[in-house]
Amino acid sequence: MTGFSAGAPHSAVDVIRAKRDGGRLSDAQIDWVIDAYTRGVVAEEQMSALAMAIFCNGMDTAEIARWTLAMLNSGVRLSWPAGRPIVDKHSTGGVGDKITLPLAPLVAACGVRVPQLSGRGLGHTGGTLDKLESIPGWRARLSTVDIERQLADVGAVVCAPTEGLAPADRKLYALRDVTATVDTIPLIASSIMSKKIAEGADALVLDVKVGSGAFMRTVESGRELARTLVGIGAEHGLRVSALLTDMSTPLGRAVGNAVEVTESVEVLAGGGPPDVVELTLTLAREMLALGGVTDVDPADVLASGRAYDTWRRMITAQGGDPDAPLPVARHTHTVTADRAGIVSTVDALAVGVAAWRLGAGRARKEDAVQAAAGVHCHVKPGDPVTAGAPLLTLHTDTPEAFDPAIAALSDGVEITDTAPKPTALIIERIHG
Ligand code: URA
Repeated sequence: MTGFSAGAPHSAVDVIRAKRDGGRLSDAQIDWVIDAYTRGVVAEEQMSALAMAIFCNGMDTAEIARWTLAMLNSGVRLSWPAGRPIVDKHSTGGVGDKITLPLAPLVAACGVRVPQLSGRGLGHTGGTLDKLESIPGWRARLSTVDIERQLADVGAVVCAPTEGLAPADRKLYALRDVTATVDTIPLIASSIMSKKIAEGADALVLDVKVGSGAFMRTVESGRELARTLVGIGAEHGLRVSALLTDMSTPLGRAVGNAVEVTESVEVLAGGGPPDVVELTLTLAREMLALGGVTDVDPADVLASGRAYDTWRRMITAQGGDPDAPLPVARHTHTVTADRAGIVSTVDALAVGVAAWRLGAGRARKEDAVQAAAGVHCHVKPGDPVTAGAPLLTLHTDTPEAFDPAIAALSDGVEITDTAPKPTALIIERIHG
């Protein structure tokens, strides 16, 4: 049985078998299987078998590059009117990772156009669109013309990907999510880069998260992913660099949707948690350097209030009211310290799963999220605490979610007698 359909130049079964048996796929096989899958000719069960074969046996650099190209070619490639440089940022996803919210308006206020076509959260990592949708009136869906207009007027847009952008990835990502084939470098790298190249930016900065709350748990695997992403970008003429950043503990103190918007606005207003400010400024400097803007210090622009003004214009342009009160959860529960000591761990995965169970995230992509659900971290690793001190406050509209959220946190916060070794937020920079 070969599984040939009449007139098809390849057989899905042969492609699956080749990868299952540890072989490499030819360019023609890759081009065909992605195109046929996008058109519905290769069935979901065949693509899930192929994704699993790739998960188990990997792909070499040339295969990953071709797979990315085929996914890119499944849709349109956006292009933007001439003008200020266009620089994009992508994070591989983490817990409390609200950096796009202060970063996009900050970099725009520094003179670079930032089109951030972002995603929704799935599982324990949050999604930028879910966070922004907690702002009354704010719309994620924009046409390409709207995006162009907003880029010209405001300089920054954060919105949902337009319809024709890498449709093969949209289908494949949903399939990977339900077939345990998400966390493998060839599929992650091709998924991210097909979308990012299709967005038509001049340059791209990647924030590759490493630690318990990230896809990549170790620095070595994060470095391998970062190098793969940077290599693919360079092949497509994109100026690209990557930062490996720590995701062993949540970024900032807020994890959820509305709570992360509030924290982002604090940063834009000149305050906010030091780690969120540090990462925002580091990524802004990286984006400006790749965009060729070398005479502006984003710290000055942040302090001047210009980034905050750009945020307000960015939210207003998409129908949002930047002054509207954000939703507040109907129920809260505070987890307290059972002993005195020093906080040695606030585990990103545990807090992310707790926020998700409280309603901030979704289990299936069609699920709704609660705008007000989430976790506020009163403590960070290294903080001294007394017995009974508040550690985490859980927010939800559905109090039956407290027990499963508390269960997720059972080993999430550790208190010891000695201070933990400080961990660097910015671990390494990888450039093309
Ligand atoms: N983000 C993506 O866009 N794709 C992946 O495969 C993983 C994270």
